[in-house]
Amino acid sequence: TDGHYDFERALTKISSKTKLIWLCNPNNPTGVYERSSQIAAFIKQVPATCLVLIDEAYIEYVTDEKPATSLELLNDYDNVAVLRTFSKVYGLANYRVGYIAMAPKLAEYMQTVRLPYNLNSVAQVAAEAALADQTFVADSVAKTVEGREYLEEFLTNKQIKHFHSQANFVYLNYPAALELAQKLLENGYQVRTGLQLDWLRITIGELADVKAICALIAEDLN
Ligand SMILES: *Cc1c(COP(=O)(O)O)cnc(C)c1O
Repeated sequence: TDGHYDFERALTKISSKTKLIWLCNPNNPTGVYERSSQIAAFIKQVPATCLVLIDEAYIEYVTDEKPATSLELLNDYDNVAVLRTFSKVYGLANYRVGYIAMAPKLAEYMQTVRLPYNLNSVAQVAAEAALADQTFVADSVAKTVEGREYLEEFLTNKQIKHFHSQANFVYLNYPAALELAQKLLENGYQVRTGLQLDWLRITIGELADVKAICALIAEDLN
């Protein structure tokens, strides 16, 4: 498959017992992005009693559509919420900061069930500073996109199956994936294994590192 959500099939599975649908866009670990019009068409058919969470942890890395977000849906639907995090493009993983955008009515429910003091003041200061530094975000995205395009082109040329990624990683199918992962590790590159048999998720770093990884894969192929 091309890794896209099968929205038609998902709709047939919704029943009166369905309380929550979690859409990750771009998806992890595939990196596949769904256009906001696709998501809108899906949500239009979801019953109002079912909450749809759209997890946009990697939304800043999307280049196929601008702007790339489903935030606009909040104007029309009270059963939609959009999740964002500071753990990825903002570089604040471990500060545990993120936010959710949703209808005021839903926010009230959330307020009653959330933990007290669940966001410390240091994390709040860090998040404000990070949010203010959009130059860093733009620079980081530009570097990531350059590396992502390099890696995808390499994989296409070598006919290595992969999903078209709109996140900061690429998910690829490689025979003897674990052996390749070990070889990469021995050269200083840790990639994600254990998601699916013979699939690896490679996170995009500096361009020089992406090129080094490609060279190691090319060597492995020979
Ligand atoms: C990283 C990530 C998040 C957010 O993680 P936190 O560090 O808990 O903010 C959410 N969804 C996906 C799919 C992620 O990869």
